[in-house]
Amino acid sequence: MNVNDSEKAASLLEKEGYVQTSEVEKADLIIVNTCSVRDKAEQKVHSLLGRLRRLKNGENTAIIGVMGCLAQQWGKGFFKRCPHINFVCGTHNIHRIPSLVKEAQLRKKYIEAVNFNGHVPSLDLCVPASKGKISSYVTIMQGCNNFCSYCIVPYVRGREESRPSGDIIREVQRLTEKGVQEIILLGQNVNSYGQTLEEETGFPELLGKIRDLHSVNRIRFTTSHPKDFSDDLINSFAEIDELCEHIHLPVQSGCNEVLEKMRRRYTVEEYLAKVERLRSICPDISITSDVIVGFPGEEEKYFQKTIDLVKKVRFDNIFSFKYSDRPGVASQRFSDKIPEDMKNKRLALLQDIQAKLTLEKNRAQEGKTEQVLVEGTSKGSDADIMGRTRGNRIVNFKGSSRLIGKTVQVKILRGYAHSLRGEMI
Ligand code: SAH
Ligand code: SF4
Repeated sequence: MNVNDSEKAASLLEKEGYVQTSEVEKADLIIVNTCSVRDKAEQKVHSLLGRLRRLKNGENTAIIGVMGCLAQQWGKGFFKRCPHINFVCGTHNIHRIPSLVKEAQLRKKYIEAVNFNGHVPSLDLCVPASKGKISSYVTIMQGCNNFCSYCIVPYVRGREESRPSGDIIREVQRLTEKGVQEIILLGQNVNSYGQTLEEETGFPELLGKIRDLHSVNRIRFTTSHPKDFSDDLINSFAEIDELCEHIHLPVQSGCNEVLEKMRRRYTVEEYLAKVERLRSICPDISITSDVIVGFPGEEEKYFQKTIDLVKKVRFDNIFSFKYSDRPGVASQRFSDKIPEDMKNKRLALLQDIQAKLTLEKNRAQEGKTEQVLVEGTSKGSDADIMGRTRGNRIVNFKGSSRLIGKTVQVKILRGYAHSLRGEMI
């Protein structure tokens, strides 16, 4: 979502004549996009802003702006801590970035745009299909109404708002006309898409409308909340050929007591039943998840239940995080916080177990033939190209860069920890 927001900001500024540079010292304008979901992300922003401050202490007169969730959370407070910042732009105000920059050029300092106005104007912003773009994000909704007890997102991104399906379809159409092959639909909880709309389009219907364009090669989406993961959506995996066989379904914990305190509103048993149904419809689907360890009150036996669940589901991969106290969220007030060294131990154990499972899963791909959408040249070698399977696994193989943007058949030769090695057939 943040990548998509950065693209939106960049495209607005490109219209004003700005060009992107990879050399920060040469930039006239620097905008730091921020995340506040965990403390670590917040610390990274402060260390980057510290480096920019040193840059500005010299001759440099660049304008510095901060956008995103942390900008929303801190608002004016940012200027106290970082007086070298010119403007702060919250999550509902991306469309105002060009005018904020102009104001900063005139007034130079302390411009703030963090108001919430009901409708989120940045939802209407489309990302341009730059030349050679193969995959593109398309935002379908903004905000979240779930208020999981640990999560700051509803506070910094506001209430849920879905984008009308006609706007989404037009954006997808425009992107595919420019050669984009893969569309990744974005929302904090795409399963509840449509609830704020007057039209009767739910998420499975939206997927159907995109399929009916017959111009999209691959459709993906993220993220799904398990409580709203419906049978209709599960059936979409059988009915919509363009929908890739991958689902990111964050479970967070394998223990019902913890899930309840997290306010996730599903049980382990319900989660497992959905996974089972999904696999009965689509046996090869790859399933990834998010897991939090060290949630307040997580006893050793509760953590063990998470390990049991991870082993039982055999996720293709997980993103795992140490619980991080966020300002103003419900769990900040919970007692029984877990000590940092315990969280570290649990995280290391979980990651170790998942690394073995991921390797086993990748090895199990050996000998299969996969459809691969070629994305670019490989990181490791100029002679190789890389792409993704429909299950979202990275494959490296020998091939010409002329194949970038094409879908080819690749036989999988080896499975490694983070990728596959293949051979084009
Ligand atoms: N809307 C998505 C995820 C949003 S945040 C969803 O509901 O799945 C991405 C992930 O960050 C979450 O799935 C969760 O695992 C993690 N996360 C959120 N708040 C956290 C916190 N306070 N501490 C640790 N991890 C957190
Ligand atoms: Fe946060 Fe829960 Fe909303 Fe996801 S569903 S963004 S974890 S509150």
